[in-house]
Amino acid sequence: MNELGAFLPQTNISYFTMELALRVEVHTYAGGLGVLAGDTVRSCADLELPIVFVTLLSRAGYFRQEIDAEGRQIEHPDPWDINRWAQPLAAMIGVQIEGRDVWVRPWLYVHKSDVGYAVPVLLLDTDLEQNDARDRDLTHYLYGGNEEYRLKQELLLGVGGVRILEALGFDIRTYHLNEGHAAFATVELLKRFPRRRRQSDKAEWSYDADRVRDLCVFTTHTPVEAGHDRFSYELVARIGTDLLPLEALKLFGGPDRLNMTRLALNLSGYVNGVAQRHAITARAMFPGFDVRAVTNGVHVGTWAHPAFAALYHAHYPQWMHEPEVLVRADHLPDAELWSAHEKAKTDLCALVRQHTGVELDPRVPVIGFARRMTGYKRPDLLFRDLQRLAAIAEKYPFQLVFSGKAHPADNAGKESLQVIYKAMRELSGKVPVAFLVNYDMAIAQVLVAGADVWLNNPLPPLEASGTSGMKAAVNGLLNLSMLDGWWVEGCIEGVTGWSIEDGTDAGPLYDKLEQIVLPLYYEDRTHWIWMMKQAISKIACYFNSHRMMRRYAAEAYLR
Ligand SMILES: *Cc1c(COP(=O)(O)O)cnc(C)c1O
Repeated sequence: MNELGAFLPQTNISYFTMELALRVEVHTYAGGLGVLAGDTVRSCADLELPIVFVTLLSRAGYFRQEIDAEGRQIEHPDPWDINRWAQPLAAMIGVQIEGRDVWVRPWLYVHKSDVGYAVPVLLLDTDLEQNDARDRDLTHYLYGGNEEYRLKQELLLGVGGVRILEALGFDIRTYHLNEGHAAFATVELLKRFPRRRRQSDKAEWSYDADRVRDLCVFTTHTPVEAGHDRFSYELVARIGTDLLPLEALKLFGGPDRLNMTRLALNLSGYVNGVAQRHAITARAMFPGFDVRAVTNGVHVGTWAHPAFAALYHAHYPQWMHEPEVLVRADHLPDAELWSAHEKAKTDLCALVRQHTGVELDPRVPVIGFARRMTGYKRPDLLFRDLQRLAAIAEKYPFQLVFSGKAHPADNAGKESLQVIYKAMRELSGKVPVAFLVNYDMAIAQVLVAGADVWLNNPLPPLEASGTSGMKAAVNGLLNLSMLDGWWVEGCIEGVTGWSIEDGTDAGPLYDKLEQIVLPLYYEDRTHWIWMMKQAISKIACYFNSHRMMRRYAAEAYLR
């Protein structure tokens, strides 16, 4: 408790998230949402924000990915060494599920910054001997199980999180809900502000929702339908036995089914999307809500390769605390920049050799693609016409490195893995392709630093933001991407990277590669390096999580 005691007096902001990428050894994340939350932790610590994070312990992680020769994904539990990274706190609260009290105990993880101070993270755990056997694994599997399991996890995060903060003695003024998963926190808070009054209709109780709105900030992260949890009220009534009366819940969560996004929208005083374009999409999806835009950013200190970190340190000593100074990176000496890039690329070649046996040639451009394997991100778009791809490679050789997991229930995502594996075989001898199994933060750090071109081809407008391209730009990679998400704001054509024209097939992507990107790499290296410097100076100085958190602090937390 002592370590926590140091945080108690000043901490008045809390951040609730289902997944959180604290470090590679702590398996409490699945993809971009969790990595963004992790970069949020890291920037909060650098900026000394008085904040506490709340997430689930996820003892068994998300999953460890194995892929067989046919490209079929096999999922294994992915536990982590909890005792090494966290300590159990002597506090316990109960959350009622199916009429039983489920006991929740928090573990404390402390993130210490190199340049600022430290922030506490609470990891909620139900694996306690006090609990019924069926409840002990409720905090084991991130995004696991069925809809019932998900509902229980969301109750533990939202309701349990509010209660744990209170039990530990935190005096919280702001609850930041990262995605709808955490929206039950609003319901728990609502119960603290009852207003008894007689009304002509039957609802005897009402609640002071404005008090809750004063406390809550909600960030929505996806325009994809499946990303918004909805639960039947029948299920909610059976499992969430300690929530509000259904009529009250329906008032905020929608009449037919409990929509977690709607619940959070209705009870948060500040709501935002994660890029300008995404806020426009979200306003159209949820008319009547004032959805602002705070464009995502990445933690530059985490994503800069050591060679780039050394370069920035030599030229801009305060870059870790004030990434804005990277705006001057357009004046970096060419030779120093290229030498940092060569070191990063050597590391990538070594990783690929070690993991796959594929020998990459460091003189040949590497195109990188890594993210969750899911339909709208179209991971197999590049492989739609293998003949065309091979013909381009004959003129301008290039190499491909891919990585990414498909959610166990995402069949389209799993199929694209098989398409990629098939393409890999068919391109053998023509285009070197490597697939790095079990994408995680460690692979991401090497890949977003050591490739030359970072490819992203989602189906607009479904990419809310995307962040991997920002990580790539911190290391001078050039983005080649659909104009969607953050790239609408980040792309200056032919300066910071390139856009891919909208289209249902891969034609515009092949054209761009063949006519613009690859010729430039081979024929005008000086201009290529000029673009790398433009990418760093114009992207890293702005699309970083320090700027993002300063905005949340000023505009959302200090309302
Ligand atoms: C950054 C990151 C992502 C997100 O990638 P997007 O291209 O933004 O979807 C996913 N997984 C890991 C491990 C990452 O580091």
